[in-house]
Amino acid sequence: MDCKDCQKLVSAAVDNQLNKETFESFEEHVDGCSACRAEYELESITKSAVRTRVKMVPTPGVLLQRIAERLDQETALADDDRKRWWSDLLRWPVLRPTIAFSAAFVAVLLILNRSAGSNVIEQSLENYRAVVNGEMKPEETSGSPEILKRFFTGKTEFQVLVPEMKDCRLLGGLLGEYSGAPVAHVVYMHDTEVIYICQVCWETVLEGEALNLSSKAKDELQRTGWYSETRPDGYTVVLWTKGNTLCSAVAMMSEADLIACLTSANSAESTEW
Ligand SMILES: [Zn+2]
Repeated sequence: MDCKDCQKLVSAAVDNQLNKETFESFEEHVDGCSACRAEYELESITKSAVRTRVKMVPTPGVLLQRIAERLDQETALADDDRKRWWSDLLRWPVLRPTIAFSAAFVAVLLILNRSAGSNVIEQSLENYRAVVNGEMKPEETSGSPEILKRFFTGKTEFQVLVPEMKDCRLLGGLLGEYSGAPVAHVVYMHDTEVIYICQVCWETVLEGEALNLSSKAKDELQRTGWYSETRPDGYTVVLWTKGNTLCSAVAMMSEADLIACLTSANSAESTEW
């Protein structure tokens, strides 16, 4: 059996659908060929994960860690290569099962989006979890604020902010919407913690139809420009406004640490932050 024949049989072998004779020659080839063996093992892992419905995300943020590692190489890459490495990333063995699940999650997320209402804080928390679990993936992966700003340019009626924050690395972003209102998602990493920033049109939130906030949060934002709370499960949400942009940052960090990261951008040149 050659590699080509062997790889055609991988899926059937994992599913136990080969007759004894074919399986023996399959096994014989796989024993002596590391490339086909890798393919066979990968397929077994993927299928057993799907079967047992075990999510193969050993630690939160593993996908984002990988992005961070890959971003180290980014400066050397041209635009096309950058797009390609994102798709390469999806082929990494440990990530395959997660991706097998994402189709199912899309349906779940749509329902969650609706049932969470359009409260910006609740929505940000949902999104944070989706990002950490790899269910929500960046459309543009870049460590460069300029590239990400260019990605968002002209797509929203509010200005999307992509600050350079101290000790934080930018990973990427994507554009979405709730009930027709555009939402920009920007993702950073601080050490091993993910910082997710949801950005929406402040005017739309004040109107309160497509998006809303509790009156407590709204009042405090209008009074001071900031609002924050830490949930009993340890998630901190920090909201602030800048022009017509409402930002809502979520991280598994203390309020003090998250605010320190977010305000570290202030001290830099930043006229826009
Ligand atoms: Zn082979």
